[in-house]
Amino acid sequence: MNLHANLIPLYMYLGHPLPRPEHLYDYLITRQGIVKRIESPVASADLLLAPIQADLIGLRLQPYPLQPLQLKVPRIPGCLLQAVLADARANIEQEVMYQFKLNAGEGWSVTLPAQERAWARVGYRSDPTNVILDLHSHHTMPAFFSKTDDADEQGGRLYGVIGHLDRPEPQLALRLGGYGHHLYNVPALAVFEEIGPFGEIYVNEAEMAAYHGDQSTWLSRWLPWR
Ligand SMILES: [Zn+2]
Repeated sequence: MNLHANLIPLYMYLGHPLPRPEHLYDYLITRQGIVKRIESPVASADLLLAPIQADLIGLRLQPYPLQPLQLKVPRIPGCLLQAVLADARANIEQEVMYQFKLNAGEGWSVTLPAQERAWARVGYRSDPTNVILDLHSHHTMPAFFSKTDDADEQGGRLYGVIGHLDRPEPQLALRLGGYGHHLYNVPALAVFEEIGPFGEIYVNEAEMAAYHGDQSTWLSRWLPWR
């Protein structure tokens, strides 16, 4: 039995070479702040979670070179995104969840996990094996990550939302899950070979922070009737 199996490592970064996390993620205290290092089957990335302004005298902390997002999977053929768009448009009165899977030797496929469809929420349970991207439809609503999505999207894979499907240029937003945190604004062309007719939505993280602090500010820009 491995007594350390449930412990997440926390390192102080003193400038020495540090291998990537062995298992999903770890934390570093660095000169610039607290860093979470993600090493999932889908991607590597480092998130600066909490900048530290104070000089922690005596700890000899060094600035840590943050790993930019690096995806570990090939891009998804555009035809699969087109197929999802067609299906979501055919079900425009409800949210639908799609899962993009990568199987060794077989390539990419899309499945609909067992789900209860509803106007405002997709509930789903599924086997996450080989799932690289969870993408759900916001039908005629804007593509944005809701608090419900935050609660559902706690893994380390890619997560996406499509919205405004009634328009000629629908919206697409993508993020990387970081086991409870998220890296926003993953470029769509890093994930898909082509994205037409979608337009990408980029999240303003300062506005996101305001949204999480006070739902009335950020959300009211999208949903003016609230
Ligand atoms: Zn959603």
